[in-house]
Amino acid sequence: MDASCPLCGRPLVPGPSVNEHHLVPRRYGGRERVAMHRICHDKIHAVLSEADLRDHYHTPDRLRAHPEIAAFLRWIAGKPPEFVDGHHGARGRRRR
Ligand SMILES: [Zn+2]
Ligand SMILES: [Zn+2]
Repeated sequence: MDASCPLCGRPLVPGPSVNEHHLVPRRYGGRERVAMHRICHDKIHAVLSEADLRDHYHTPDRLRAHPEIAAFLRWIAGKPPEFVDGHHGARGRRRR
């Protein structure tokens, strides 16, 4: 798989830095899922409610146009593709 993140455009490295996002929340019957960075995914849900996602922000282009997400994307652009924010998921350093 050589995919890139629909939000930030950086490569997706299979493993714990990658998550799936429902473009329309499952609660509202959404089925379409996209793979994206966990950190990008967390940002979406930190900024937008599920109703916002359903009503307007159900495409990557619309997400990228949100001012807070746009600012995040400028910040994340310089981080390595496997970068995961320090305060979640820092456990599990042992890898198999
Ligand atoms: Zn990303
Ligand atoms: Zn999501």
